[in-house]
Amino acid sequence: MLPSWRNTPLEERKAILYRFGELLRDEQEDCAQTLTREMGKPIAQARNEIAGTLKRINFFLGAVDEVIHEQTIISTDEIREKICFEPLGVVANISAWNYPYFVGSNVYVPALLTGNTVLYKPSELALFSGKKVASLFAKAGLPDGVLQLVCGAGDVGTHLLNQDIQGVFFTGSVATGQKIAASVAPRFIRTEMELGGKDPAYVCNDVDIAKTAEMLADGAFYNAGQSCCAVERIYVHEAVFDAFLEAFCAVVRKYAMGDPRSEKTYLGPLARQSPLKFLSDQVADATAKGARVLLEGGVQSGKGWFFKPVVLTNVDHSMTIMREESFGPVIGIQKVRDDSEALKWMQDTTYGLTASVCTRDEQRAEKILSAMETGTVYWNACDRVSPFLPWTGRKNSGLGTTLSKLGLQSFVHVKAWHLRRA
Ligand code: NAD
Repeated sequence: MLPSWRNTPLEERKAILYRFGELLRDEQEDCAQTLTREMGKPIAQARNEIAGTLKRINFFLGAVDEVIHEQTIISTDEIREKICFEPLGVVANISAWNYPYFVGSNVYVPALLTGNTVLYKPSELALFSGKKVASLFAKAGLPDGVLQLVCGAGDVGTHLLNQDIQGVFFTGSVATGQKIAASVAPRFIRTEMELGGKDPAYVCNDVDIAKTAEMLADGAFYNAGQSCCAVERIYVHEAVFDAFLEAFCAVVRKYAMGDPRSEKTYLGPLARQSPLKFLSDQVADATAKGARVLLEGGVQSGKGWFFKPVVLTNVDHSMTIMREESFGPVIGIQKVRDDSEALKWMQDTTYGLTASVCTRDEQRAEKILSAMETGTVYWNACDRVSPFLPWTGRKNSGLGTTLSKLGLQSFVHVKAWHLRRA
């Protein structure tokens, strides 16, 4: 299928992707309900994900011409030099379950627009959403075989890597990312990894406390904390520490936990059972080392893998909760003396996805954020992704870029042309 798809005029490829977006919009309620049923994401948040995916599709449709348009650099009587962009070929899109529409579409939309064919492996925990995507592409008129759905777990993913692929775009855990990177390294194919995070937020002494607490609690607990860029640790200036703790806990206490199909639910169950023990162990490790429980939560009895949010303070970096990705509804809040102590702890991590500073003073935020080794920085914001900006991690958070115009370039080879008349 590759030659015919790459030779399909861009306008035709765009028309099919546009139609895919229209169908996704027509069927967004069904897609959101399916997503909620299969992974427990509260229905309002599932709808947000589909709506956000539509914005990403629109962005890519609007940006692709400029990115892959042939560029003439020099044109004289003697020589012409130009740059052309060509698809990589067959790319593997191996995806996570926590935002299946976001993380999948970040790859298959720009990949298809730029003329690649795609082997799309949704997570085994978001298979119905993956099947829905494949059926919408078929309805949109994507020729057979241009996007092939690959169903299965890690063993199928391993098998997929052994195919004749020219690129692998992976979203998932660091451990799996390392296995994949090692397995494809000898082939020198394009390899991009969107991995985990342990994203810090720092609250300065000049903030609107109620507003900041509300924003950071949402950043920590949206999607039950199962977001790569969730706020995973908070540092608070000592001058506002006690007031912030109180405001933060007041927000979290109000979160409605329950049936994710209910419009009122903010916190649904976790998508998997295994994190129940992992999160309980993080809390136990912290309390054994002196952490104080501000909001007591943990595993809930009854139907579903519910974990009530746990808020801890008196935390430090000897505790796993401040160092290892939690990926669930737990948070440690640490007191700091000043900006330089905050920066020291924020930087004390093997991850590099995002970092956030809350202050009224833009220059103060800029000074701290410039020093952070992360792909994204936020001033008075957190847990936010824009289609216009590159999404990229450093260190253990990954390799390569999705979204923005750079996230289209990820799917093409450049070819340099030197043209001289005989
Ligand atoms: P995971 O690594 O368990 O699985 C991800 C995908 O890889 C699944 O499709 C799985 O079947 C497949 N897989 C597993 N083993 C494989 C192997 N050996 N070879 C090939 N494929 C294999 O991750 P997960 O639990 O689905 O996702 C959670 C993780 O994803 C978290 O760490 C989260 O931070 C990260 N994540 C990162 C981003 C980002 O943009 N940086 C976005 C979403 C999720």
